[in-house]
Amino acid sequence: MDRRTLLRRGLAAGVGTVLGAWGFNEISPALFPERPVWDLNHSLWMRLQPPHNPPLTTDLDVDVAVIGAGYTGLSAAYHIGKVAPSKRVAVLEARSVGNGASGRNGGMLLPNVANEYLHLGSPPNVHKRIYDLTVESMKSLIALAAASRIEGAVEPVGALQTFETQEEAEHGRAYLESVRGLGIPVKYLDRDRTAEVIGTRAYTASVFDPNAGHVHPIKLAHVLKLAAEAAGVKIYEDSPVLRVEEGPMNRLHMAGGQTVKARSLVLATNAFTSKLGYFRNAIAPVYNYVAATRPLSDTELASIGWRSRMPFNDSRTLVYYLGLTPDNRIHIGGGSAAYAWNDGVAGRPDAKAVGLLRKELATLYPALRSIEFETAWNGMVDMTLDWAPLVGVTGKQQNIYYGLGYCGHGVNLTFLFGRIIADLEAGRQQPWREFSFVNRKPPYIPNEPFRWIGIQAETAYDGLVGE
Ligand SMILES: Cc1cc2nc3c(=O)[nH]c(=O)nc-3n(C[C@H](O)[C@H](O)[C@H](O)COP(=O)(O)OP(=O)(O)OC[C@H]3O[C@@H](n4cnc5c(N)ncnc54)[C@H](O)[C@@H]3O)c2cc1C
Repeated sequence: MDRRTLLRRGLAAGVGTVLGAWGFNEISPALFPERPVWDLNHSLWMRLQPPHNPPLTTDLDVDVAVIGAGYTGLSAAYHIGKVAPSKRVAVLEARSVGNGASGRNGGMLLPNVANEYLHLGSPPNVHKRIYDLTVESMKSLIALAAASRIEGAVEPVGALQTFETQEEAEHGRAYLESVRGLGIPVKYLDRDRTAEVIGTRAYTASVFDPNAGHVHPIKLAHVLKLAAEAAGVKIYEDSPVLRVEEGPMNRLHMAGGQTVKARSLVLATNAFTSKLGYFRNAIAPVYNYVAATRPLSDTELASIGWRSRMPFNDSRTLVYYLGLTPDNRIHIGGGSAAYAWNDGVAGRPDAKAVGLLRKELATLYPALRSIEFETAWNGMVDMTLDWAPLVGVTGKQQNIYYGLGYCGHGVNLTFLFGRIIADLEAGRQQPWREFSFVNRKPPYIPNEPFRWIGIQAETAYDGLVGE
């Protein structure tokens, strides 16, 4: 065979492989349909879950149906009910309020979006607009929590982003330099100052943001539930939606056999959204882990010197994040990530993931090395490839609203996105046009088996390099 024939055949084989893979990618969702399952929340927070509402038992005709009673769904319902009290709004939740990430998270209340957090991803003036917008939203959330009868839902105590290495600390310092003069009130703390605030000398330095804080995740969901109900919203729990039939009047087919007709629909289904056939190629649902100690005694707490009670997270890709509860439990999350084939749901956290949390806690606070965790849990984070979130409107009739892709940064952002959804639903697009996360096209994530292979490779790499 001459060289030219060899090259031609090689090229044909290459193109054939790519086309074959692409063809398989296209038919993959039909070959591997996703199962409609919602894993149960075993977190520490759920011990304080709000009283359960009854499920939907009849057909329903509403102006707006919201699928999912996490922070996004409750915030969207609250904001829609508040600005348009005459609209009939129903929230349909597969399990219970806060059963998803909203009742499982690490409680860090942070300004900004994940891809701009202590990172100048946009031009400085745009970065500042996003920072201010998210801080303003956080202040509304703090006020809503303060006005509720739920105590201790939000603690606006500030937060630290810590750095392991000198190189990372330099990145932190460079960020501060680049936002100097913009009025973003973050401060650089060296090792000694960091240790004064959180007790551990394990970090080279940190950045302090006074606008951040800590939440009790399920109490916050409770605050939002009460606010939505006070705004006239009906919330149905144990009411899974199995299928959406789009139209000028959307029809939702419930697992219980009922039908819900709604002119507008809000997808507030986060990492479960692909199970309804939406955003499969935008979101990768990735498990993250959290564990909590028993309440520490005053002596134990004094011995570690975490005097400020300020939450903190480090700068690794598989970020560790820690908080201290009012009853003196330490909760620590992160360190590893896992993906279940075909956007599936997983069981309880495995010993390896919990072991990593244990090891990290002992490294940060050697005095606690013999303390066992009282409980551990996991939850799905809705990752996008570029770590940017998305909020907007979709569907053949442009009457399906959504907010997702928070990438582990949604405790604050969900409240804002609920407000944006309410505005878009009411036809008020203008105030939001300038923000790139509104109605954006996210990078493409392929179907199985390519998504499984890609995510395994990425999480294994992050674990190996210990980022
Ligand atoms: C372990 C972990 C730690 C985290 N830590 C932090 C943190 O410290 N700080 C931070 O800012 N963010 C954190 N996050 C992210 C944050 O919790 C989420 O971004 C946020 O809670 C998303 O809220 P949501 O309402 O969009 O989704 P969810 O809270 O997941 O709510 C979606 C709801 O939709 C329901 N649902 C889904 N499909 C259907 C259906 N077909 N029918 C009916 N109901 C349905 C689900 O049952 C669920 O209750 C963390 C996430 C996890 C998992």
